[in-house]
Amino acid sequence: MRILKVQEPISGGIFLTYKCNSQCRHCMYACSPRLRADWLSFSDAERIIRNLSEIFRRKYPRGYRRIGVNLGLHFTGGEPFLNYDLLLKLVRIADKFEVPSLFVETNAFWAVSDEIARERLNRLKEAGLHGILISVNPFILEYVPFERTLRAIRIAREVFGDEVLVYQEYFYSQFRMLNINERLSFDDYLRRVGASGLYYAELIPMGRACYRLGKLFRRYPAERFFAGSCIEELTRPWHIHVDNYCNYMTGYCGGISLGDARDMDAILSGINLDDHPILEMLTSDRGMKRLYEFAVKEYGYKELRDGYVSKCHLCVDIRRHIIQETDEFRELSPKVFYEGLESNGGCL
Ligand code: SF4
Ligand code: SF4
Repeated sequence: MRILKVQEPISGGIFLTYKCNSQCRHCMYACSPRLRADWLSFSDAERIIRNLSEIFRRKYPRGYRRIGVNLGLHFTGGEPFLNYDLLLKLVRIADKFEVPSLFVETNAFWAVSDEIARERLNRLKEAGLHGILISVNPFILEYVPFERTLRAIRIAREVFGDEVLVYQEYFYSQFRMLNINERLSFDDYLRRVGASGLYYAELIPMGRACYRLGKLFRRYPAERFFAGSCIEELTRPWHIHVDNYCNYMTGYCGGISLGDARDMDAILSGINLDDHPILEMLTSDRGMKRLYEFAVKEYGYKELRDGYVSKCHLCVDIRRHIIQETDEFRELSPKVFYEGLESNGGCL
């Protein structure tokens, strides 16, 4: 029996939902307005936050409030402000358990006026939130008018002072230089700045980006990605995520569940890989080759004619194919992730 050892998490995020007002081309978790509005339940949230807070208590000084992308706990999704009441309740629970570095990640679509933005942020602060991360990039700009992003940043700085992360600052400066106020389509963005405008983008070719941004990357045959193993990504303790179905996910690997985060002891005591054949392959040497051959043989997977932009593209395309054929692999979860990919199998 092979056991996958999982380290205690040192930082992470909790998804309220996969639903989002946007459908960004780069979204690693394939969130979308088209997905069902399934929300994290209050009782699940309480168990998950309690579990994480007990672990974080051993890792952070008591009362630690500085925020950082890879620190403490954040609420995310999907877009957490789509269910503001739930967000507020979760912040109160996290405050009760004295969770360190507590922040929310948002695309700022809700900042439609100064009054609304101030009211929402002040209430979250009063509930115990330490800070906020506001996402800025050309993909969100297709959905959220930049004036709302600017407003959210300005008022967040009034409310949270230094505990405001603008991710990425590069695009914040670039859009201001370009005098953008409204939405801008990605094609228009590229026309204005050229592909070099994306030079500093931290673009990870995973999730939906493999399909919707394929034209930005070179493509290779599957064989190119056969070497190595994903054990490092899949057991990484920093920036883990727990989704609204309680799936415990690592390494930004959307759609791969290590188990149920309501039972962290079970996950941390090691995962029996005999019960998780796809995890077993992905964490073994030349695991991608094994997964590819398995999918071809057992499920009739066909290599993409146009090739793949990354090993994660090959991985997610195979998993998407398998989940269309069978529900038997519990580690391929949740299904909504695969539904949100917008994959037609080729390069869009
Ligand atoms: S990247 Fe963020 S804003 Fe864009 S679809 Fe995903 S969750 Fe929504
Ligand atoms: S190839 Fe798959 S398992 Fe490995 S890092 Fe990418 S998405 Fe995760």
